[in-house]
Amino acid sequence: MNIDTICVTGKSGYEPCDKTGAIALPIYQSATFAHPALGQSTGYDYSRLKNPTRDYLEKLVASLDQAEFGFAYNCGLAAITALFDAIILNKKEGERLHVICSDDLYGGTERFLNSIGKKLGFDTTFTDTTEVENLKKAAEPNTKIIFIETPGNPLMKITDIKKTADYAHSIGAILIVDNTFLTPYLQQPLLLGADVVVQSGTKFLCGHNDTLAGFVTTNDKNLAEKLEIITKTTGSALPPFDSYMLVRGIKTLSVRLDRQCQNALKIVEALKKNPRVKGILFPGIKESKGYEISKSQASGFGSMISFYVDSKETVERVLKNVKIIHFAESLGGIDTLITYPATQTHVDVPEEERNARGITDTLLRLSVGIENADDLIEDLSQALQSDF
Ligand SMILES: *Cc1c(COP(=O)(O)O)cnc(C)c1O
Repeated sequence: MNIDTICVTGKSGYEPCDKTGAIALPIYQSATFAHPALGQSTGYDYSRLKNPTRDYLEKLVASLDQAEFGFAYNCGLAAITALFDAIILNKKEGERLHVICSDDLYGGTERFLNSIGKKLGFDTTFTDTTEVENLKKAAEPNTKIIFIETPGNPLMKITDIKKTADYAHSIGAILIVDNTFLTPYLQQPLLLGADVVVQSGTKFLCGHNDTLAGFVTTNDKNLAEKLEIITKTTGSALPPFDSYMLVRGIKTLSVRLDRQCQNALKIVEALKKNPRVKGILFPGIKESKGYEISKSQASGFGSMISFYVDSKETVERVLKNVKIIHFAESLGGIDTLITYPATQTHVDVPEEERNARGITDTLLRLSVGIENADDLIEDLSQALQSDF
């Protein structure tokens, strides 16, 4: 079955959750479940452990990722935290594990690794993971995890998933891919050799900027057992109503993304012609470093575009004057959002390092929605040219 059909109908066609024939997934807003008799269970006991609405969603996301196991958490960072907690359950007391991580990634992941992660026993080296050479330089005898985001955030750097997985396995490490920017509809990291996929469901999967969610999927049975323990023990799993919202959002994932990708290509062409735009970071640009790899491992370029403008004044002008586009954090939804990484997603990265990486104070990031592309282009060009 094709992935756009699975998005609508679930893993093996329509699987009714109850006997009423309901087409929409019921929301099992129940904290607890009655047992038929001593020693018996319907399969559901208490919603922190397992809830039918969440269960359906977890199976759905696992099947989209072609994974055996899927876990839904109350946001992307909760999913990442749960994953590292699960890895802790596998390590020896006092043991420190080394993580090699993309230097172009979601600011919250970096904050987690540098603060709580460090205290929990993870030492992280951030490097440009687009070159395997850099991984080799960063590797330590205790490197057990390589964590990448591709496309990266906000510089849209493309890392070769297969090559990175091969390298990780050659040193006894696992590869974790944060697939938030492309979703399984456009990129399936487990099929390319990754061991674990995490994603913020808040973004494209939900798609409407109205619900937070996060996912971990894997084929690793041991890790899945540990994740189950974490879900049971720390209680950060996704509530039933939010699970319903995600199932509903995923039904339209393919049509939204098709439109968003098309719009993004048109906007890139328009930005290329704008005199105030001084550089565009988008993997769909043929001359860009990641273009060929992107084409080989993903079925689309996504709808995230970063671009440099000529001055900080232009940044202020754009953020003040956009009318259809919202100046807001987050991404992936049907509404086009513009973000200023320097003071929003990457505010915790020290200024000098931010500039060295290319996250300068003239960089803007666009998450393209499903509005009419011509209206978006007009909005951007009036905002870029307008006076204060
Ligand atoms: C937003 C985001 C996260 C964190 O997800 P939340 O749902 O906001 O907790 C993680 N990774 C990436 C790439 C993101 O864009």
